[in-house]
Amino acid sequence: MGIQKKRPKLAQKRGGKQRLRAKTSPVDVREIVRRRAEAEAAIADARKAHERLRDALNILPQGIVFLDPEGRYILWNKKYAEIYKRSSDLFKQGAKFEDTLRVGVARGDYPEAIGREEKWLAERLSRLHKPGQRHEQTLADGRCVLIEERQTGDGSVIGLRVDITELKQREASFRLLFEGNPVPMILCAPDDGHIRYVNDAAIEHYGFARDEFHKLKLRDLQAFESEMPWILDDSGDQQNTRMWKHVKADGSLIDLAIYSRKLVYNDQPMVMLALVDMTERKRAEARLAFMAQHDSLTGLPNRNLLRQRVDELLAHGRRSGDKFALLFVDLDNFKTINDTLGHGTGDQLLKSVTKRLRSTLRDEDAIARLGADEFAIVQTGCGRPEEVALLAKRLLEAINVPHLIGDHSIMIGASIGIAMAPGDGDNSERLMKGADMALSRAKQDARGTFSFFEAEMDARAQARRRIETDLRAAIEDDVLCPHYQPLIDLKSGRITGFEALVRWPHAERGMIPPSEFIPVAEETGLISALGGLMLHRACADAAQWADEVRVAVNLSPLQFRAGNLLSTVMDALKQSGLAPSRLELEITETLLLDKSDQVLATLHALRALGVRISMDDFGTGYSSLSYLRSFPFDKIKIDQSFVRDLASNRDAQAIVRSIISLGMGLGVTITAEGVETEAEFSCLRAEGCHEGQGYLFSKARPNSDIAALLQAQVAKPLVA
Ligand code: C2E
Ligand code: MG
Ligand code: MG
Repeated sequence: MGIQKKRPKLAQKRGGKQRLRAKTSPVDVREIVRRRAEAEAAIADARKAHERLRDALNILPQGIVFLDPEGRYILWNKKYAEIYKRSSDLFKQGAKFEDTLRVGVARGDYPEAIGREEKWLAERLSRLHKPGQRHEQTLADGRCVLIEERQTGDGSVIGLRVDITELKQREASFRLLFEGNPVPMILCAPDDGHIRYVNDAAIEHYGFARDEFHKLKLRDLQAFESEMPWILDDSGDQQNTRMWKHVKADGSLIDLAIYSRKLVYNDQPMVMLALVDMTERKRAEARLAFMAQHDSLTGLPNRNLLRQRVDELLAHGRRSGDKFALLFVDLDNFKTINDTLGHGTGDQLLKSVTKRLRSTLRDEDAIARLGADEFAIVQTGCGRPEEVALLAKRLLEAINVPHLIGDHSIMIGASIGIAMAPGDGDNSERLMKGADMALSRAKQDARGTFSFFEAEMDARAQARRRIETDLRAAIEDDVLCPHYQPLIDLKSGRITGFEALVRWPHAERGMIPPSEFIPVAEETGLISALGGLMLHRACADAAQWADEVRVAVNLSPLQFRAGNLLSTVMDALKQSGLAPSRLELEITETLLLDKSDQVLATLHALRALGVRISMDDFGTGYSSLSYLRSFPFDKIKIDQSFVRDLASNRDAQAIVRSIISLGMGLGVTITAEGVETEAEFSCLRAEGCHEGQGYLFSKARPNSDIAALLQAQVAKPLVA
């Protein structure tokens, strides 16, 4: 710009010189000097402007060259010389572009010209005279240059050089990545999805030849034409989040995850798609999903799927008002079959039961397997319990017909618990819990029956859970303690010993009776801890009493199963220093129900220690007399139900009398429980009963009372 501004002044100055020659005078000489100085300043300005232009050109990232109309070098920048560094020694102002090119070709600076030098030169020079077109040139050092040339008004040429080596390398890498990629890839037009390029993997995967592919649009690959790929209407890059279905050349369908990206390839906007075939994975996933929701033995839906189905039905029912029933079916004594006939037979039996259940149901009813021998059935479209009861009966009958498995004909029964939806629960969890509770009730009542859920079962179950939690804490915090109820020698009226009865002072509920928490302790396994605690406390307390006074401790059958009863007893005796003969262990008839060798061995081992064994609650079991033969008991405690009404009820009298004579015959001490009245007491004494225990003498009392009680009877027996 600076150069152009100065030009008119220079022209003026040249005009001035002409006028100078015309007339000269001394004054004119001063004028000449002044004007020369002016001219020199202008030249200096022009030079500076030229240098500035050069500096400006030199910092440009592109190479720039100016050629005059005859094709001679006027000006070029540093980048230009750098790009053509092999030929840069030839660049001189006034040198002809064609000559430098020729020398360069001869020296091998332009590898594209080798072998066709003249032709190459002719093409190159013709391009110079047909400017405005871009072309690429490869140089001897492997770099690639983009050339663009423009002609100015006076025929000069301005040439632009851009080093595109990196771009070319990127393109080559992309091509390599695209063409050599094992993942099928497609480049298509972003507007209509016309397929422009495909890689070998796509050809192999889809089975279309390359030219067939190039005739297709993306939507031709779609299995469902209505599914237009998102890439065509969206501008950004996409990572696929859903599955697409494509058709291969042979007509088969594949599931794909498609990743797309917009890019420019060969100067054209394109969408590149990477097509990841998920068909196998989807199949594997489907298999896994099936396995996660079904039972492998019977192929029936499992608990998860049942829960989903029940929730769906409940949701549907909320809209439609439809009702349904949930039945839990549990096989009776399945474990015994598994244990005696083997698991193979057990499995066959389960399959056979599945078949029977299925054939009893309508198609619209659902069936699931919940556990080893537990099934669930959803009976839809029924609101009346009578209909469900009918189905339950049919199911029980169907199961109850002998199953022929191998050489065996197996009879098996079942119990059924029923919950009605939505009445018994408005979510799957509650409903399933309800059916489960009803099932427990059915099993308790009598196996082989069915039972409906009742709200009171739920309340009971909740109370039971609360007891379990509190009991666990009470045992840990050592809140439980024994109270002692005296056993009286009916002849002398003196105390022979005390029965330790567990007491639970509950912070909120007061004293909780053992009948409420012993069954819970037995169900939850807490009974071992509770029993151990009672043994230790009772032995320790008794060791402080007078020497002849015994202590009796109740044992649960479950303590025998735990296996460490013998060592617990020995430990309690050792720690307290109590003589074994002062310890009585009370067991109930239920312990002897299965008369297992282990139970009898433990009983004998306990007795061998010198400990006495009593049969508690005698007469309440099924075959009390036969139990007396299984083990030589030291004491029989007549259950309080026989003692009740002893004075007025002749039958009770007869039973008590015969138990007493039986005991005498066997040489066993007989104790009557629950003696409440003087009449009962005198009747028992008259019959020759040895001992009595009951409210008439004393309720169970804390250990702190016992010393005084024992002391008092020294002066005066508890009863006369
Ligand atoms: P049990 O062993 O037959 O104990 C006698 C039960 O009868 C005690 O009830 C006692 O308080 C009660 N009883 C005593 N005299 C009379 C009477 O004159 N009239 C009436 N109506 N009842 C009387 P408790 O203490 O409620 O114990 C109930 C049962 O709980 C016991 O029956 C025993 O089977 C069990 N039990 C108590 N403590 C333990 C223990 O530490 N371990 C185990 N495993 N069971 C225990
Ligand atoms: Mg007892
Ligand atoms: Mg008893």
